Amino acid sequence: MRRTRSYAGREDWIHAPRLRPKPIRSKVLRMSHDAVNRKARWALFLDVDGTLLELAETPESVYVPPELRSLLSTTASRLEGALALVSGRTIADLDRLFAPLRLCASGVHGAERRGPDGRLIREPLDLSGLHSVREELAAYARSHQGILLEDKGYALAVHFRLAPQLADSVHALTKRIVERLGPQYVLQAGKCVYEIRPSATTKGTAVRTFMQQSPFLARQPIYIGDDVTDEDAFETVNALGGISIRVGESAPTRATYRLARVADVHKWLRELSVESLLMRGP
Ligand SMILES: [Mg+2]
Repeated sequence: MRRTRSYAGREDWIHAPRLRPKPIRSKVLRMSHDAVNRKARWALFLDVDGTLLELAETPESVYVPPELRSLLSTTASRLEGALALVSGRTIADLDRLFAPLRLCASGVHGAERRGPDGRLIREPLDLSGLHSVREELAAYARSHQGILLEDKGYALAVHFRLAPQLADSVHALTKRIVERLGPQYVLQAGKCVYEIRPSATTKGTAVRTFMQQSPFLARQPIYIGDDVTDEDAFETVNALGGISIRVGESAPTRATYRLARVADVHKWLRELSVESLLMRGP
């Protein structure tokens, strides 16, 4: 067996093509409605920031288009309620954003959940570690202009969108704290945010729990998200034989499809809601 140099300078085994590395994103395709099996009954899981809503300078300053509320409401009823928001925000925050709409939801990366009965379920997690570092992070935010500490109860998020030059400093601080707290907590990277959250729940665990309950039960999941925190959910949905869609063009992902931007998600949902496939039985 001999090797030769490829055009890019990489070595290729010319007599053993199976040894060539697989392209990382060989399965990532643009999402179209053709990929949705019209005979399946679907459950829809939607991340919020960067997926349904354009990112803003601060979490409070996002804009919720009125037509998005009616689109979500229509789609949820066509899916017989099998639609859930899956966010890093708290459910209280999601309700404030989408009021008067109150959808099924998971908040703070799976730590909170609300099903169709409207009951809020909070995972029984030991948060003493978080309490012990809150003041340290608050002091950092006070002494660094543009840093915003968001206290979600179950997680502490340090936003640096207004001070991008501090990205490395925020990363070093939060990484150090998580290492000190031990394996009960993880550092969750996001877009201009580092978040310390419990390791026991993820967006993936949230999707899996929803899928064990009516009206999600026995449906096939579609999950749309835009960030690192959605990768757990992509993996869960792939394992359940569903469709995973990452918003944005460049980041590596386990999702099997992509939509380029938030506007494309809205367009996709609008088209989906007029298709009769949502109401078809198996
Ligand atoms: Mg997002």
